[in-house]
Amino acid sequence: MALDITQMSARQIHAGIQDGSFSAVEVAQGAIDAIEALEPQVHAFIQTTPELALKAARAVDADRAAGRELSPLAGVPIAFKDNMNEMGTRTTCGSKMLANYESLYDATVVERMLAAGCLPLGKTNMDEFAFGSSTETSFFGPTCNPWDLDRVPGGSSGGSAASVAAGMVPLSLGSDTGGSIRQPASFCGVVGFKPTYGVVSRYGIVAFGSSLDQVGPFGRSVGDVALAMNALAGRDPRDCTSQECAIDFTANLDEGVEGMRIGVVPAMNEAEGVQPEVIAALNEALDHLRGLGAQIVEVELPHIDAAMAAYYVIGPCEAFSNLSRFDAVRYGYRDPGHADLSSMEDASRAVGFGTEARRRILVGSYLLSSGVYDEYYLPAQKVRTLITQDFREAFSKVDAIVSPTSPRTAFKLGEVSDPVSMHLSDLFTIAINVAGNGGLSLPVGLGRDTQLPVSVQILGPQFGDDRILRVASALEGCYDIARTAPLAAAAKGGE
Ligand code: GLN
Repeated sequence: MALDITQMSARQIHAGIQDGSFSAVEVAQGAIDAIEALEPQVHAFIQTTPELALKAARAVDADRAAGRELSPLAGVPIAFKDNMNEMGTRTTCGSKMLANYESLYDATVVERMLAAGCLPLGKTNMDEFAFGSSTETSFFGPTCNPWDLDRVPGGSSGGSAASVAAGMVPLSLGSDTGGSIRQPASFCGVVGFKPTYGVVSRYGIVAFGSSLDQVGPFGRSVGDVALAMNALAGRDPRDCTSQECAIDFTANLDEGVEGMRIGVVPAMNEAEGVQPEVIAALNEALDHLRGLGAQIVEVELPHIDAAMAAYYVIGPCEAFSNLSRFDAVRYGYRDPGHADLSSMEDASRAVGFGTEARRRILVGSYLLSSGVYDEYYLPAQKVRTLITQDFREAFSKVDAIVSPTSPRTAFKLGEVSDPVSMHLSDLFTIAINVAGNGGLSLPVGLGRDTQLPVSVQILGPQFGDDRILRVASALEGCYDIARTAPLAAAAKGGE
């Protein structure tokens, strides 16, 4: 009988391969079967790569047969967001512009996960160029939330979150510029971690906002996410913003939170429009932390209210600059039948980019134009400094901060159509991208009203990422909740 991997953690899979209970090839086949059964409903992938997964699995099995030591992620299925270059795949960014773009090299994060022995199952769906919070702006159509197929998985890394929540893979990678790992993790009831800016290399990731973008893992447990971080983190000479990182992210997971000071920010938790069930879940989490011996204290982040405004200036400006490379000359969509370069470029960009991408480009181009620059971009950078200082100050008083991840649980496909309401789902995630700190979204069960996954967010000081994981791991231990959406069990029952 085929191996059912839908409920298995990365650690269980690795242990099973190590002790000979099953082979890496059986694991790869288990993931391929799970994708075959669940993908028609979920649409988490833009491209699946079963042959690449099987090839990597055979290499792991050969290593084991030869008595070579296996790395802790050897034989673990993984999926990559489709803005990460991986040889042998297309990297589309969910856009018509890059729909046929073949990767010419591996992004550093892909290279590292493959070197660790992960089995690459495919490239996951995303909002176009990572602009969005619902995965609905993908040129390839939306992804559905495995907990309720009529709802969005969040975004922009919606496919990465949904693939893990559905049980298709135990691990995936996403990128987070303003919340794109944590918000979909929250909507899909999985763990999602955005490390401190600079902990993980951005080389080979199609850039959105270069001073904000950071790659991180999704998993169904904090332990799996910590394992992935051990493989991902570290200096990469090809990304000058990446830093040395000698942390073992799994080392402190069992240390608990006794004696720790955990901050809550009244301005975040009492913000307008937060669903009552989200606040109830947060309060329950705080009670658990108290029960574990942590002290809960209020901290102020005086400029937090300006984070959203600063982000929606800096983000589009950087996106405008980064997306100017798509000129249809060397690669990307080229509109046919133009006699001169400029009309070819204009038409290709007008047709190749979707509505939200065009909106960001236009906004960025306007904000950077002379005269306007001083009114928006410059003040936004100053606000950024203030917010960074706010966090530094707060983390001199507390070890971590806990807040909701998103003001609400997953909304229905098509329900949120105006951009401002869409942006509001990132109310709590954006500030740490602006400041550069790390943050993790931890599922804490189903909301009492909507019965959809609800999460809390744990923030830490810059480069205090192992501490975030430690707090998350302690809190995770207080909950006995389903990790894989019921869809997987239903699909199996229906076989
Ligand atoms: N939802 C936010 C935006 O639309 C953040 C996106 C992201 O983190 N990539 O910009």
